[in-house]
Amino acid sequence: MKRRVKITLLSVVCIYAVVLTSVNIRDLKVGFDYDDTLVFSTPSFRVANKSGERPYSEEYWRVVNSSFHLDKKKLVPVTIALVYKALGYDAVIITSRQGYGGEELKKNWKWLAREFYFERNKSSILEKERFVAYFGDSDSDITEAREAGVRPIRVKRSPKSDNKRKYHPGQYQEFVLPFSD
Ligand SMILES: [Mg+2]
Repeated sequence: MKRRVKITLLSVVCIYAVVLTSVNIRDLKVGFDYDDTLVFSTPSFRVANKSGERPYSEEYWRVVNSSFHLDKKKLVPVTIALVYKALGYDAVIITSRQGYGGEELKKNWKWLAREFYFERNKSSILEKERFVAYFGDSDSDITEAREAGVRPIRVKRSPKSDNKRKYHPGQYQEFVLPFSD
């Protein structure tokens, strides 16, 4: 290998190591919403809606949470989460779903996020630890991140999503992630 290439490679490795260790020492996290942020999950909700269970009942959530194999990962948000992880940040998933039957779903995301919370009050988690950003599609994702003093990033919903509520990208002058739908 040419000497110059070797030196360049070595410096890249050194810089990477320094960035990684300094981030780890400070224990920084980055948060992600689940539905319409990391995944297009309309198919799971459609299955639950057709199941005959009362919407938002315990059994309804069991159907939604166990249908994760139907969810489609969203390329841009998932790639961003991976880049954060490569830089040493902990990716954390916080969804306002109820957690009934959600153990398998959590396990399914272990490769990306060690922590996966079912929590309606997202700011209660965001304010407890050091989050550099929270990515989410809903207006409430943006307002709850702000409430917790965390920088919100708006992820665009797929136009095919059945969820049309609480969606006004840019309404809070937040950064809207391009190509994220
Ligand atoms: Mg969402």
